[in-house]
Amino acid sequence: MELKKPPLIDDEGRRLDGRGPAELRPLHIEVDVLANADGSAYVEQGNTKVLAAVYGPKEVHPRHLGLPDRAVLRCRYHMAPFSVKQRKSPAPSRREIELSKVIREALEPALFLQHYPRTAIDVFIEVLQADGGTRCASITAASLALADAGIPMRDLVAACAAGKINGVLVLDLCDIEDKHGEADVPLAMMPGLGRITLLQMDGMLTPTELKECIMLAIEGCKQIYAAQKEALRERFVRIRKEVEEAEGLEPAEGGGEA
Ligand code: UDP
Repeated sequence: MELKKPPLIDDEGRRLDGRGPAELRPLHIEVDVLANADGSAYVEQGNTKVLAAVYGPKEVHPRHLGLPDRAVLRCRYHMAPFSVKQRKSPAPSRREIELSKVIREALEPALFLQHYPRTAIDVFIEVLQADGGTRCASITAASLALADAGIPMRDLVAACAAGKINGVLVLDLCDIEDKHGEADVPLAMMPGLGRITLLQMDGMLTPTELKECIMLAIEGCKQIYAAQKEALRERFVRIRKEVEEAEGLEPAEGGGEA
């Protein structure tokens, strides 16, 4: 006997958390949140909370891991034991090892790795609370942490998933929608350059639905990109204020616009 799937969207197109099909979860982004890392960022997307920290480019240890013609980008995606309802073992799972690779590959096209031979750039991602879409929130946070570390980039990378629940195509699935829905399509891109750096699919979609999900996810990424740029701008306004205060200068014209 086939189990009846719980209704995830009502007749008026409202989802369990009140969102419409094409709506993102509430987004909160901060840059430069850790004093000891070279760059850092914090992203909250609904109940998913992710922290990213970057070190580098720096000397590689052990040295044989370095490459003569470019920097190595090393990513570690990790879920904190308290990030899910059932305590997660702190040891890296196969899923975390796979997601670390996927996230690295989504970030690499944005970096000029050939400019830093024999060095390493380390990206540490901690999922503090998981409610679906953690790989996407991790990419969004990691690209901001790289920018915050002052590492030259072609563009920021923004990421967002689209998918299908109860036959309706929706943006930015939360955990219950991911688990009980029909499909999930995470996508990362450099919105300024229009280049996709990650595309995955879990579940079943027709070719037309997949195309529509991609278009939906691209729209989501563009909104996240705007929020990323605003978070970076706020960070520079903050630094300018601190410098002005330290030097006893008058605030710059334009009220601190960066
Ligand atoms: N999840 C969990 N325990 C785990 C791994 C995942 O409860 O050990 C949940 C978590 O909420 C996560 C969701 O399942 O966000 C979906 O996981 P998936 O592997 O699809 O990756 P994500 O959507 O987070 O990128």
